[in-house]
Amino acid sequence: MRRPARLAARLLAPLPAVLLAVPLLVAWSPPAGADDPRWVFYSRDTTAYTSPWWRGAHRTMIGYGCTRASYYSPDPRCRDGNGFHHGVDYAMPCGTRLFAGRAGTVVSSAALGPAYGVRPLLIRNRRLGVDFLVAHAVRVHVAPGDRVRRGQLIARASDSAAPDGCHLHIEVRRAGGGLDDARRPIRYLDLEAAR
Ligand SMILES: [Zn+2]
Repeated sequence: MRRPARLAARLLAPLPAVLLAVPLLVAWSPPAGADDPRWVFYSRDTTAYTSPWWRGAHRTMIGYGCTRASYYSPDPRCRDGNGFHHGVDYAMPCGTRLFAGRAGTVVSSAALGPAYGVRPLLIRNRRLGVDFLVAHAVRVHVAPGDRVRRGQLIARASDSAAPDGCHLHIEVRRAGGGLDDARRPIRYLDLEAAR
């Protein structure tokens, strides 16, 4: 009769240590929204913005247009051999929830190539006459042919094809257009400066 009692005591003995460790582990985990050490901010805008396209408030890493970021080949529109960025990059922690900031229909992104990550999303809004390209996404919840409503969870931000860390590249093109049909996307993002 003694043995089981001793066994129970042995099993229960580490319990206080475990109970102590749980809050310590919680305290030690990195804070939510921790900066990604791979991020490099080429935009002078240090404002964190909220948007219907994402959860939380995030800073611009590379703006639309000519940039000194080295990832893009020299563009005739830009001086000093700078390249042209066709969308805007917002630095956000890996896994940040992404939403459809505008309604539309998901169309095939197969022709986009690998630079936008393994699962880029293309959402076509016929009324506005544009395609929204959501790049470096993972855990994509929608497929070509799906209708998405504004505010719908569509994917999560990741570093897929993004050596400069987890971020959202959002690009706006004329519906059915290519890279040369990209336009300034800001007016479609409904940005608000976070306090
Ligand atoms: Zn980008």
